[in-house]
Amino acid sequence: MRQDFLIIGGGVVGMAVAYGLARAGQGVTVLDESDDALRASRGNAGLTWVQGKGIGMPRYAELSLDAVRGWSAFARELTERTGIDLQYEQRGGVDLCFDAEEAESRQREYDELQQASPRLAREFEWDYLSRDALLPYLPELGERIHGGTWSPHDGHCNPLYLLRALYAASRALGVEIHPSTPAQALSKADSGFCATTAKGTFTAERIVIAAGLGARTLAPTLGLSGAVAPLRGQILVTERLPALGWLPTPQLRQTASGGVLIGDTHERSGFDKGVTLAMMQAIAAKAVQICPALEATRLVRAWGALRVMTPDGNPLYEASASHPGAYNINCHSGITLASFHASALAEAILNDRLGQQYAAFSGERFHVSA
Ligand SMILES: Cc1cc2nc3c(=O)[nH]c(=O)nc-3n(C[C@H](O)[C@H](O)[C@H](O)COP(=O)(O)OP(=O)(O)OC[C@H]3O[C@@H](n4cnc5c(N)ncnc54)[C@H](O)[C@@H]3O)c2cc1C
Repeated sequence: MRQDFLIIGGGVVGMAVAYGLARAGQGVTVLDESDDALRASRGNAGLTWVQGKGIGMPRYAELSLDAVRGWSAFARELTERTGIDLQYEQRGGVDLCFDAEEAESRQREYDELQQASPRLAREFEWDYLSRDALLPYLPELGERIHGGTWSPHDGHCNPLYLLRALYAASRALGVEIHPSTPAQALSKADSGFCATTAKGTFTAERIVIAAGLGARTLAPTLGLSGAVAPLRGQILVTERLPALGWLPTPQLRQTASGGVLIGDTHERSGFDKGVTLAMMQAIAAKAVQICPALEATRLVRAWGALRVMTPDGNPLYEASASHPGAYNINCHSGITLASFHASALAEAILNDRLGQQYAAFSGERFHVSA
């Protein structure tokens, strides 16, 4: 039986879209690469975050706002379907500033964002708080921190439980998932598309490439840009600690199990997803500056993972002009946007309206005319 949709990539983006399409009654097959593939979905910080999004592209901040507004219901629905608690919490978040210059530049960016979008002017809530004013949200915050921007929209979840729940919910809806089955080539077939793999050929009426960094080679074969590059982040995790009573920050957040996840590094390291001693030392020193109580804490784990970055950092939502029915989806904020990908984005794909509804996010914006 030929499926309605073939999804290439079983990360959080591909699975959110697969779940959304299956929930709408579509027949979906997902092909994923093997365990040693590059997988941002298994190495990220788990923030559901609006702050900092859409600087220079307000539409992206609006999407992020829509996504976090949908997150509670999305998490509840996945839990009801699968019994998996996503440990989602939305109590607000703080993005720290280390000096006056950073504080001024952040506030200027948010002001400009709101001037550019009447909707954000009304709906994006944030405030700059000094170090002392942050103490109720971040008890015993380091004395050398200047302050930070607080926003009630921000939150966090356990991203691995999110992924597990998307797999479980999709399977229960009949989605066929093939792990360790990388697509070697994609092509047009009779009134549909075909993925060639070492385990045989898979076909469907339409195809969604959600292969993270794999889009670089796959997407151009169907007339899509796949304009993404790796940007490494390194993360440290502490032993489990009693509750610190902190709101999450991009710099560090305490997980539901008590461990503190530390690190917001951005490194151009090619496709190397390893960790380096120098960077781990820098992350640890910064964490102690932020939260001096962590000084005597033991680290239990560290990892590196590659972000899926477009040239301007904004999502890439593409519908192929040369191969109607083929789409490419990439973003560097797939946890935050998961609720949106499973709902409005999946619906736009289903109705073949992606190109029209999300034209601002197409690969066209990267084309440079002669
Ligand atoms: C350090 C770090 C911290 C982050 N923190 C956050 C955060 O706090 N909040 C947030 O919202 N986002 C965060 N992100 C970003 C988020 O993790 C990504 O946006 C998201 O995981 C991207 O998901 P994806 O499915 O597109 O890509 P991936 O997770 O990379 O998945 C792509 C999948 O495609 C498969 N694939 C590749 N090629 C093929 C092929 N040929 N055939 C079949 N399958 C293929 C791979 O096996 C893989 O499973 C962070 C990322 C990093 C690296």
